[in-house]
Amino acid sequence: MHGTPPATRTTCPYCGVGCGVLAVPDGRGGAAIAGDPDHPANFGRLCSKGAALGETLGLATRLLHPEIGDARVSWDAALDRVAEGFRDTVAKHGPDSVAFYVSGQLLTEDYYVANKLIKGFIGTANIDSNSRLCMASSVAGHKRAFGADLVPVQYSDLEAADLVVLVGSNLAWCHPVLFQRLAAAKAKRPALKVVNIDPRATATNDIADLHLALKPGSDVALFNGLLAAIVEAGAVDECFVRRHTVNFEQALATARRDAPDLAAVARTCDLPVADLQRFYAGFLATERVVTLWSQGVNQSSSGVDKVDAIINCHLATGRIGKAGMGPFSITGQPNAMGGREVGALANMLAAHLDFERPGDHDKLRRFWQAPNLAARPGLKAVDMFRAVGAGKIKAIWIMATNPAVSLPEADAVRRALGTCEFVVVSDCERDTDTARLAHVRLPALAWGEKEGTVTNSERRISRQAPFLLPPGEARADWWIVAQVAQRLGHGKAFAFDGPASIFREHAALTAFENGGTRDLDLGGLAGLSDTDYARFAPVQWPAPAARKMARPFADGRFYTADGRARFIAAGARPPMQATSGEHPLVLNTGRLRDQWHTMTRTAKSPRLSRHRPEPLLEMHPDDITARGLVPGSLARLTSRWGSSVHRVLAEPGMRRGEVFAPMHWTDALAGGVRVNAVSNPAVDPISGQPELKHTPVQVAPLPTAWSGLILTRRRLGLDLPYWVDAVGSSCRRYEVAGDTPIDAAFAILADQIAAMRPNLEVHDRTGRRLRAAWFDGDRLEACLFLAREPEPHDRDWLMQQFEAEALTGPDRLRLLAGRAGAEAASAGRSICVCFGIGENRIREAVGAGAMTVEALGERLGCGTNCGSCLPELRGLIAESKQKAVA
Ligand code: SF4
Repeated sequence: MHGTPPATRTTCPYCGVGCGVLAVPDGRGGAAIAGDPDHPANFGRLCSKGAALGETLGLATRLLHPEIGDARVSWDAALDRVAEGFRDTVAKHGPDSVAFYVSGQLLTEDYYVANKLIKGFIGTANIDSNSRLCMASSVAGHKRAFGADLVPVQYSDLEAADLVVLVGSNLAWCHPVLFQRLAAAKAKRPALKVVNIDPRATATNDIADLHLALKPGSDVALFNGLLAAIVEAGAVDECFVRRHTVNFEQALATARRDAPDLAAVARTCDLPVADLQRFYAGFLATERVVTLWSQGVNQSSSGVDKVDAIINCHLATGRIGKAGMGPFSITGQPNAMGGREVGALANMLAAHLDFERPGDHDKLRRFWQAPNLAARPGLKAVDMFRAVGAGKIKAIWIMATNPAVSLPEADAVRRALGTCEFVVVSDCERDTDTARLAHVRLPALAWGEKEGTVTNSERRISRQAPFLLPPGEARADWWIVAQVAQRLGHGKAFAFDGPASIFREHAALTAFENGGTRDLDLGGLAGLSDTDYARFAPVQWPAPAARKMARPFADGRFYTADGRARFIAAGARPPMQATSGEHPLVLNTGRLRDQWHTMTRTAKSPRLSRHRPEPLLEMHPDDITARGLVPGSLARLTSRWGSSVHRVLAEPGMRRGEVFAPMHWTDALAGGVRVNAVSNPAVDPISGQPELKHTPVQVAPLPTAWSGLILTRRRLGLDLPYWVDAVGSSCRRYEVAGDTPIDAAFAILADQIAAMRPNLEVHDRTGRRLRAAWFDGDRLEACLFLAREPEPHDRDWLMQQFEAEALTGPDRLRLLAGRAGAEAASAGRSICVCFGIGENRIREAVGAGAMTVEALGERLGCGTNCGSCLPELRGLIAESKQKAVA
């Protein structure tokens, strides 16, 4: 009897919220996806990215077989080649001539094995994770203040708080389910106040009672001002400070130097005094305060000081270790926390053991029986790739990440990899910007196929479970590393028979000679059987064997030598790279609502591609005008390090003098738009985290002879100054622009399209615009629109025409007009991707009286599934109300 297979409980592979997912395979390689109502991170909710996971499971672009150069080889041949490359390099140049660059996408078990091999047995700490770009400043800030990298807050504290302060976090787009939990708590209990501290007015403002659009980089001054205000108001928890902390006076002296009075702080932060006063008064008057931050704090050359300036305010008021309060760093990636647990960063040992703490190195050496254990920290990400460029690192293995796109000064990273003697890439995808530079490509299992654990932002360990069969010859990352370890002569230490045995060893290490001296203790999980491991429910750490798990710091005991937390005298300083006459604007980079990292998965989803199909450059309208640009035109973004091209979006919520661009697009999906070619490589001196939020830039019009649109059922290879590929449900959409004569460009593109077999060509050459469509019988195959001036095509309507089996008569004429007839109004830019509801339809419904999100949901369905679009729906309603008042 055939029936629906049971749902597999797993975890979303995207952000650090770590939502539980129920996946039901459809038997054709796909799966139906739903939120897991029993998972304590999301209780059944999923955001737009999580809800679209089923659309990302296709195999068309996967790496399915090992390759050396471009030749398919056997696993044995590939593994032998990797082992030989690393063995020979170490033999000739020593262990520090090799490196691993790993990823928060890896499962904890994969991470553990990679870290064990390079630190324990190859003998170098040259392993760093792309988490360095994400939360390294928080790790360092926690360790300075608490003596351990411990996040003391959990999600339910946001709901129990009376004030939530969000700093440098577009929670609505980057951690949407957490945002929805907070929004729901606030709707239920309006006394819960939210302050949003962010230079940009983002969708997160939807629930903010107060928005502080501070000057970028001025966070330390803001929180030093708060510390001074706490003291002035007599709000210090004297007992807590006396018993459980040290260094208060030094921190206060520094804070007072930065913040002699309110007016001085307001000037430094470029904020109205009244707003600052309101924030400080709210913080002083509210006991239950959670201060939550993410990359806006961490991605800074003073990121560690920002983190500690925030923590200082919680220590001064004793607001830590209790329900509804505390400093809360949330991670960007699904398993950034797992990487921290296994020590897969260059300056950490495994299991929160430390290079610096006496005795830790010896403990790990004995536990692993690794006489060759690295004795000193290795190179952090930016320095690691500089060392590759300088020829000091001669062999590098990159796992599950795309540094040729994601690191700052990305062109230099690309050049470095291009000259490196031996580059190995393990990935699920064959054609990433980094995989193109690899000598050996190893096919890894993807989400839905691999098995292991991840830890989310509230220290909750959940399982990622397989529900699809391994495709081709893809293998688990831990298996690949263990196979290479065996070939390097370390078989005994890597004789794992599955992820459960790796997890048991990892858990046992956390408990090894711990006795309550280290925060990370999973001793209670070290004896899990394979069956227990396959079934275990999400669990928060610490999970020690003998002691009851308690809220971190509830007893006022920290993990420093004397058990006291450290106040840090964190002085304000400006970002490392200052603006100049040549580069007068500040570039901020970040995430979009519906894309993830370098889009290797989300770009496969037609519905996710609808929200922002191009990498738009958000600018204040006055900055646009001042540069001779118009909204929708193309502009070149330039810094000392490189340049990229973007379409300009007018965004009144930007501060003047600042621009924002998304981090996601790559050369595999577009031409000329990689924003990290522009980003500066300055790093925090302690954490090594790059300052991706502050690059001095200039923006200027991009001279083009023409621009246009190509829709086609098949993928095109383009060589143009600007092109962006986005997937639709039945076709691909290419936005294009060029600087060659339009007739020649049209002829070349038309030839390229016609070469793909479409057999009937219809042309419209009227003056300044050139249009053509190709048919196979009556079925639309492709269309091409070029014009000297940008034209307002109805892209969504055009893409819908590819869903029809036959297009005849008037429909063909409308097609060449590029828009629906008057009777078929355009739906407009997609806002609700779950139900495909466009901006124009929403505006229409608002105009017809649907003035709440509930009314819109009732009328159109929008916002009633994942809820990711709710802030934008409220924005459109607010805009309409404002217009009515004006
Ligand atoms: Fe995935 Fe969205 Fe949940 Fe993040 S909030 S884990 S992206 S479903």
